[in-house]
Amino acid sequence: MQILLVEDDRSLAQGIKTSLTHEGFTVNHLTHGEQAVRSLKTEFPDMVILDLGLPDIDGNKVLKRVREFNAELPILLLTARATLDDKVKGLDAGADDYLAKPFEMAELLARLRVFERRLSSTKHADLTLGGVSLNLTNLEVTVTDKTIELSRREYMLLKALMENAGRIQTRDSLESKLYSWGEEVASNTIEVHIHHLRKKLPESFIKTVRGVGYIVKTA
Ligand code: CA
Repeated sequence: MQILLVEDDRSLAQGIKTSLTHEGFTVNHLTHGEQAVRSLKTEFPDMVILDLGLPDIDGNKVLKRVREFNAELPILLLTARATLDDKVKGLDAGADDYLAKPFEMAELLARLRVFERRLSSTKHADLTLGGVSLNLTNLEVTVTDKTIELSRREYMLLKALMENAGRIQTRDSLESKLYSWGEEVASNTIEVHIHHLRKKLPESFIKTVRGVGYIVKTA
């Protein structure tokens, strides 16, 4: 699951990022509200963790502006203001959840897992194409009903390709789905993952579009 973290307290942000990455989430981090609004027009994370007290525009304002063009995106507010009134205001403005600082990392992780379960049950429990089936709830992958073992990144890569079946996925867009911003990625990383994936999948399930990227055909 890809998460956008908007938090100006750098040490808190680093702590959150470390814990979440350890749990298998991909985290991109921004410190300002305007950056977040701009970024959410072109990037599509699975959810946002949004601090209310930001250096430029207030988190509540970010929330309102994002809701004007994206009503669905799950947003969890983080805040030092823990009064009931603030909480109601945040939820009324379109937040999905609310966590008061200071909080235990375990609680944040538990809340994120709730979102994750909700996402995978509302999206689609299964994704099946050409004998390959991804169970989005338990992350199991089967090929003609036999379970295969994939690394976390191989799974994310296969999921990105299958969710966009019939559409070419460029190496850059795949890379952005697998890695956080600023993470060191070797130039042939996607090729290497594809190479390993192919050995586990039916022949020519993933097609190369020379010089552009990869595609999984719909039929
Ligand atoms: Ca803050």
